[in-house]
Amino acid sequence: MRGLWLLLVLVAAAKAERVFTGDQVIRVNVQSEEQIQLLQALETKEEWELDFWLHPVSIELPVDIRVPSSSLSAVRDYLHGHNIPFSVMISNLQERLDEEKAEMEKNRIRERGTRSFNFGAYHRLETIYNWMDTLVAQYPSLVTKEEIGKSYENRPMYVLKFSTGGNKRPAIWIDTGIHAREWVSQATGVWTANKIATDYGTDPSLTSLLNTMDIYMLLVANPDGYAYTHSNDRMWRKTRSRNPGSICRGVDPNRNWNAGFGGPGASKNPCSEAYHGPSAHSEIEVKNMVNLIQNHGNFKSFISVHAYSQLLMYPYGYSCNSVPHQRELDSVGRAAVQKLTSLYGTRYKVGSICKIIYQASGGSIDWSYDVGIKYSFAFELRDTGRYGFILPANQIIPTATETWLALKHIMEHVRDHPY
Ligand SMILES: [Zn+2]
Repeated sequence: MRGLWLLLVLVAAAKAERVFTGDQVIRVNVQSEEQIQLLQALETKEEWELDFWLHPVSIELPVDIRVPSSSLSAVRDYLHGHNIPFSVMISNLQERLDEEKAEMEKNRIRERGTRSFNFGAYHRLETIYNWMDTLVAQYPSLVTKEEIGKSYENRPMYVLKFSTGGNKRPAIWIDTGIHAREWVSQATGVWTANKIATDYGTDPSLTSLLNTMDIYMLLVANPDGYAYTHSNDRMWRKTRSRNPGSICRGVDPNRNWNAGFGGPGASKNPCSEAYHGPSAHSEIEVKNMVNLIQNHGNFKSFISVHAYSQLLMYPYGYSCNSVPHQRELDSVGRAAVQKLTSLYGTRYKVGSICKIIYQASGGSIDWSYDVGIKYSFAFELRDTGRYGFILPANQIIPTATETWLALKHIMEHVRDHPY
């Protein structure tokens, strides 16, 4: 009888999780304006249920599309019919996801045996939250954990605050994982938090920084979405809020900020991955961040970490006009990336969101810049599409380590240029 129950539970669990058997991720290296328009037309074919990992925007950037197995032949015919060459980056997405899951499970068992935390592995939300308590316990005079509010599904949202004293010192904000499926972002956040704690007192530059400034890190900016990528749908990006009148759930939390809200590069369709939501800051997760930053009132830098594409960007996204500090932000960004590249040769592009990818409204770093936080940056971490969102776990530590060099450069610049 117990065996039967177990079987039923397993079947139910297996059913709950979305499968991507036979789904492919294809890449188009766009060669003309006409091809961009033909690919943009593909985006409107809702019945094919395509998931654009990289959108068709300019002839300088590749287009990556996850094509469900049921739409493969139609999409191939469309591309062949219009003479658009493409290559297959991932030939069966489910195989990659199975590998990823097996590796996580293996690591979970090993961690349980050794009671240690592996920074080179992907973890579930509860594991990350438990690890935060360990870090606070290890470094009580440096690190505190603060709840900034609850998510839509009532999960607590925690920031780690690194501070050596003072009252509301000038501060640096770093958030990771606002888009749920960009797992290397949350994992890089965890590694970075640990790095800050362990290097304080030994790294002179970081130590001097923390003697005058605070660092706030929100490691899982979209906890509902992140939990959902583990339990139900690895490809989930948005929040999990209900949209009245629609069967589709979730809002793109990086189109939801009060910065050109509802403008180009966001969708008013609740089923879109770029749905901006019913109003600015409608998402409680965004609202919680906004409240913390505004109540604090002394943030000097705001850094938001995404994946993938290897870009370091500054405002604006909602407009293609240059920001007043464009020259300074560009030179800080370039120097930061030079440091990043020096470690393993990973190449990054630097520029404003609008110029480097596309016009996108309602983004976090546009909001932070417009409320007066000059040093606002967004990272798109590894890779450039070989694995896309399914970056193998053995790249977490190299990614985090190289990114740290860039983050440190930005933070040092902020420290040395008070305003
Ligand atoms: Zn993102």
